[in-house]
Amino acid sequence: MKKISTDYLIIGGGLAGCVFAYTLRQRGLGCILVDTPLLSNASRISAGIINPISGKRFSPLWDSHNVVSAAERFYATLEAQFSEQFFRPLSALRLFTDADERELWFTKRASTLTFAGYVPPERIDAGLRQEFGGIGYTAWHVDVAAVVTRLRRWLSVNALLVEDLFEEQYLTYTSTGAEYKHISARHIVLCNGWTVLQNSLWKDLPLSPAKGELLTVQADTQDALLRDFIIKGVFLLPLPDGLLRVGASYSWDELDETPTPETAENLIAKAQAVFPIPMRLLRHDAGVRPAAQDSKPILGVHPLEPRCAIMNGFGSKGAAYTPFCAEAMIDFLETGAPLANWCALTRWKAWR
Ligand SMILES: Cc1cc2nc3c(=O)[nH]c(=O)nc-3n(C[C@H](O)[C@H](O)[C@H](O)COP(=O)(O)OP(=O)(O)OC[C@H]3O[C@@H](n4cnc5c(N)ncnc54)[C@H](O)[C@@H]3O)c2cc1C
Repeated sequence: MKKISTDYLIIGGGLAGCVFAYTLRQRGLGCILVDTPLLSNASRISAGIINPISGKRFSPLWDSHNVVSAAERFYATLEAQFSEQFFRPLSALRLFTDADERELWFTKRASTLTFAGYVPPERIDAGLRQEFGGIGYTAWHVDVAAVVTRLRRWLSVNALLVEDLFEEQYLTYTSTGAEYKHISARHIVLCNGWTVLQNSLWKDLPLSPAKGELLTVQADTQDALLRDFIIKGVFLLPLPDGLLRVGASYSWDELDETPTPETAENLIAKAQAVFPIPMRLLRHDAGVRPAAQDSKPILGVHPLEPRCAIMNGFGSKGAAYTPFCAEAMIDFLETGAPLANWCALTRWKAWR
């Protein structure tokens, strides 16, 4: 096979690998991406929500202003280049599950600068079960599967995609970088989701992968409520075609991509507890989120092998964090600009 010399060898073509590859090319750097889609479908089934407030404790996105700006810029650039829509703002409604949660919100709001503008919505429609009220704000939806499909096609057309399983035994490190089969590169960057734990260098990475299941349903209503992204324990995400996505479950026990009927029943029951209307199940997906133990992205180089870098740990927030992290990673590897502590691998002592 003809030898290829490039700047970056990327392993994994989910959202992280594809966003990283595109950002490298935008900045005039070369790359080859090696991916088989068979080992993880997290990006292909992702709900793609960018939610500025998540979890029971109303956790904000880290560095939210810069993270959301980077995401807006990135997806707008893609939309302009490919004349396709990938990104849309969503009007979000988070309903409090009980009085304690409502109280916690007001405490958080008083102490978190970015929440100052978040207020109770002017009205919450009567069709929703919402005895404790809620807050309204703007979230965003990214069609992650469409982004990945489009970028993989673009990589393929530009001869930057090798559709193959990456096998560690064929990788060697050299004085100028790394060599893998016919490819030599200055850096190798692993973007292979939770299966990075199978790599000998990274098997102890502090990941806590979480299986998630997600439904696509047809809701039997013409109700205007379906225009909003609603959260109360589960989320109900309206899609442009009128269908609704309902999700997502979390499980840390069985890390596989098999949808389970009990989880579907459970998600529908939770959704109907918020919005009591008939829902017909059309599609049921499962995948494994590459979540870090502290739920933040992980960027950096291996302490014993600095030619091997990692861009991982996107958990349930890949749609928001990947554009910002791709930029930060390139600055770090090309100019030595330090990574912010919240997303740096070195936030763990053992990885310094
Ligand atoms: C049910 C569910 C709902 C979600 N909802 C949201 C959401 O609303 N918003 C959000 O931001 N995020 C959401 N996520 C999370 C989001 O999907 C992830 O953050 C993101 O997809 C991670 O992308 P990644 O590229 O790091 O990993 P992955 O998508 O896992 O991609 C890794 C790629 O590398 C390939 N690969 C692995 N090993 C090898 C190898 N040895 N050789 C070649 N290729 C390899 C895999 O096959 C895959 O193609 C959700 C996830 C799930 C499961």
